[in-house]
Amino acid sequence: MENRESALVDRLRLVYRRPSYRRVIAGTDVIIHCHHYNSRIQRTVEAAAGIDGKALLVSTAERVFSGYVRDTFIDGDPLAVRWALAELLYSHLGYGRIDLSRVAESEVLASSSHFVEGWSVGLGRRSEPVCSFTEGYLQGAIFAVTGELCDVHEVECMASGGSCCRFTIKRGRTRPIDAIEQSPVEFTPASQEGYLHSASVDEEVIIDAVVGMPLYGRESGLIPVFSVYLANIPALFYNLLSLGFIEAMAARGRERSARRLLQEDAETCGMNTFRGIMCSTEWEGLIAPMIREPADNLHALIAVSNALGWGNWHIQRHTPGLSLDLESLNGYEALGFQELRGPSKRPQCSMLTGVAAGLMELIYGEGTLEERFGTYAAVESECISSGASRCCFGVEGVG
Ligand SMILES: [Zn+2]
Ligand SMILES: [Zn+2]
Repeated sequence: MENRESALVDRLRLVYRRPSYRRVIAGTDVIIHCHHYNSRIQRTVEAAAGIDGKALLVSTAERVFSGYVRDTFIDGDPLAVRWALAELLYSHLGYGRIDLSRVAESEVLASSSHFVEGWSVGLGRRSEPVCSFTEGYLQGAIFAVTGELCDVHEVECMASGGSCCRFTIKRGRTRPIDAIEQSPVEFTPASQEGYLHSASVDEEVIIDAVVGMPLYGRESGLIPVFSVYLANIPALFYNLLSLGFIEAMAARGRERSARRLLQEDAETCGMNTFRGIMCSTEWEGLIAPMIREPADNLHALIAVSNALGWGNWHIQRHTPGLSLDLESLNGYEALGFQELRGPSKRPQCSMLTGVAAGLMELIYGEGTLEERFGTYAAVESECISSGASRCCFGVEGVG
């Protein structure tokens, strides 16, 4: 039994592509973000008036994971192995634990959840279940394993006081899963020569250390590292969700506010995740000895984020405390947009834009994170999605 499990885990081994800074698990690009970010974008999408954000989130997860779970199978896998892989992928990526042994009885139980942790820590208790992502994952996984279409509803959730999360399966669905239309994009990233570096921060050592960390869920299916809960989520999920959200909001004349909300979520996440990293024992042992001046923190954090799969970005210009110019050579938002929608008329990288501001606020701001929020403003002036050779972000202090 243990041998079988370790053989299956082997299929999910991380491949870190050094030249592109991508993290790949079972053939899929995954991005590491923390529970703050994941819960906040969920709240942003689900709380927006006039659109069905919850349905968007569930269907996005269903579309992505019906393919991703299937990609972990190899020809000849018996049914029991396919079920085991559907459970294992979920926990390995850090989403929590699901028990698929009672699917035939139309019930799934979950004993831990990244999304419950995120909601409970950052956003307080709520009466409705919060595990929309898991509903979509289960719909996709059941389809991948058996070919059956179904709708999954969470009827009890730990975020609203349940002892576990409990899902029921509604059978007899005929509505198909929406296909994902993607066309490959030919793109050669620009050279990463010529950017600013710190004399004392060894970026290669930091990247090696973070890539070497076991950032996958173990017993609990959660990844409590850097004082936050991390999860590996497909870039395609983030891209489809934010595009779907922006387009639904645009149809109601609220595109600008949709983009602003996504950017603010990333700004908050940037501060929270990076503060967690700077307070961690990992930072203390490895990185703190490299820090001579405040700007060194910035160089070190950029190196860490390049190990998390966010997309190969570097410092072009920096005046400590005042301004920062960053360039990203292959960000997942820009390339993902092109694959899904073709060339864009405007910059598309909300996540990197928000994080760029969050980095400056964290390193040079004062007071609580709430007080620092909004004290720097970031703008993406050029984007790969609209034909530029790189995405360019400028950050400046406000006021
Ligand atoms: Zn739940
Ligand atoms: Zn961009």
